[in-house]
Amino acid sequence: MDLQEKIKDIIGQALEFGFTLAAPLSVSTIRLREEVREMCAANKCHAYNTNWSCPPGCGTVEECQKRVDSFEGGIIVQTTARLEDDFDFETMEETAKKHGKAYLEFTKRLRTEYPELELLPLGTGVCMTCKKCTYPDAPCRFPELMSSPMEGYGMVISDVCRENGIPYNHGRGTLTYVGCYLFKNKEKG
Ligand code: SF4
Repeated sequence: MDLQEKIKDIIGQALEFGFTLAAPLSVSTIRLREEVREMCAANKCHAYNTNWSCPPGCGTVEECQKRVDSFEGGIIVQTTARLEDDFDFETMEETAKKHGKAYLEFTKRLRTEYPELELLPLGTGVCMTCKKCTYPDAPCRFPELMSSPMEGYGMVISDVCRENGIPYNHGRGTLTYVGCYLFKNKEKG
């Protein structure tokens, strides 16, 4: 089975897994931008410089772009929820948790089922694998489970979705969390 056929299978599995949307992602559409990193540095999320998955721990824009460009294909996954109103914080929180858990579990499944593939998971938020990140005192404890936020790498998520013909805004009263996985065949030898 070639990589494109595997990606088709993986999309089917992602939908079965509970993501509300899963679709192919062309690596050539991913352009990482310094302006997005500048927003990270403003540190509104309080994650900047606190872990290996976010800047500056995840590497410079150039280093991340080089890493992304070395991959051959990918998928985007989304979890969309309908909110009762603009203050439906309960659904917002539940959806964030549901998406985060599914994303981490699906990462584990991909690593088990496709050991021949190298995987770059880029998710919604800061890596949540460990209770306390080892940053900056020791190397990442679980590099195979670590996932950087798409924005942390420098992606404009709405642009990436649009360039791949995938809706990002699912209409008024909805909320969508987005993640992606990039794949390439492991080098033999
Ligand atoms: S896997 Fe653990 S040590 Fe590595 S980036 Fe995530 S939280 Fe930090």
